[in-house]
Amino acid sequence: MPQPAFDLTFDPAAIEHLILTLGAIGAHSGTGVWRRVYDPEWVAAQALLAEWMGQAGTVVRQDAVGNLWGRVEGTEGGKAVVSGSHIDSQCPGGRYDGALGVIAALVAVKALVAAYGPPKRPMEVLSLCEEEGSRFPTAGFWGSRAITGRIAHGDADRVLDAQGNSIAAAMNSVGLDPGLIPNARRNDLAAFLELHIEQGPVLEDADRSVAVVSAITGIRHTKVTLVGEQNHAGAFPMDLRRDPMAGFAEMAGGLVGHAHRLGRPAVTTIGRIEVWPNAPAIIPRDVSFTLDARHPRADDYAALHQTHHAMMAEIAARRGLALTSEVQFDLPPTPCDPAIIAALTQSAQALGVAFVEMASGAGHDSQQMAAICPVGMVFVRSKDGRSHTPEEFSSLPDIVDGIRVLAGALYRLAY
Ligand SMILES: [Zn+2]
Repeated sequence: MPQPAFDLTFDPAAIEHLILTLGAIGAHSGTGVWRRVYDPEWVAAQALLAEWMGQAGTVVRQDAVGNLWGRVEGTEGGKAVVSGSHIDSQCPGGRYDGALGVIAALVAVKALVAAYGPPKRPMEVLSLCEEEGSRFPTAGFWGSRAITGRIAHGDADRVLDAQGNSIAAAMNSVGLDPGLIPNARRNDLAAFLELHIEQGPVLEDADRSVAVVSAITGIRHTKVTLVGEQNHAGAFPMDLRRDPMAGFAEMAGGLVGHAHRLGRPAVTTIGRIEVWPNAPAIIPRDVSFTLDARHPRADDYAALHQTHHAMMAEIAARRGLALTSEVQFDLPPTPCDPAIIAALTQSAQALGVAFVEMASGAGHDSQQMAAICPVGMVFVRSKDGRSHTPEEFSSLPDIVDGIRVLAGALYRLAY
């Protein structure tokens, strides 16, 4: 029997109600949210989502790190098709970052089951516990990392907040046992689809409501230190100096200028600089800076870092500066799965939703989930490209477009 044509309508007012109700938990700065993992606001938000998942007809459970799963069994069994995102926020962040992806999955799965009955493959709605690092800066995708089995023994005691409290203690405080973290691992997922706000200006620039994501960018953070010779700012002639600030200035121009010349989607950012001794009349002894460089394609990613390194080495040698660079973390580019890209693309085309295909310049849980299953993402336009601020906003028509595209892809994958 041929599958019935996919056709679902969504009530924008009902979706807005969910966004505002969830956004009221930990509400901050008017339209913002302050919701850190394992804080009381987080507990309340997950409890509300559990209630909503139950009302949507899914079987709800919390895993060992506090991720929330709502499952609908499939008539033919097999691996599950999963959709969701995270509910923790920046401090303060907006109502949409992460939360919209959980709501979208919930709304889509509920509508699919109501319209077409149980799927062939199991479907699950996922509310991940932690993505932002806003309470534990080194948690590193705590929720999705637990699902992929990448949290090492002892990590829970080593991941600390600003006051030195461990994430293990925070888990204990909400009734979760860090010793059980390995139980959160899943190896029975067929696909993970994440709807997320774009968090940048590309969709607005292209005048489109949604994007199908081709890949998630690779991100490398490097700490670079240049050491010269500290001396008198007046008595030392320019040609005899070993000035790390002058070397830094040339590097900054060269590195950022290189990414600029490469054009989209390459990006290079120097976000922090430290100078010692940082005084007006002293040629500095050393300058350290951070280098954040990203590209979504593996070859270009490697080339970008190679060029950066060659530039810095040449400038440092010419200026007599000692150069050290330390890679602080390196998340390689994650291509989205071709079959999921196809499902999302066909869904958008069949629904008449105009879209662009683009890479994600931000990191996402999907990057982690790619270690255990094929992944794909849908982006929804962000007003003025704003995110990680209470001003973050996506319009209801854009959100409905995104949910329709997501639901159509879930239908193709699970029914
Ligand atoms: Zn997010």
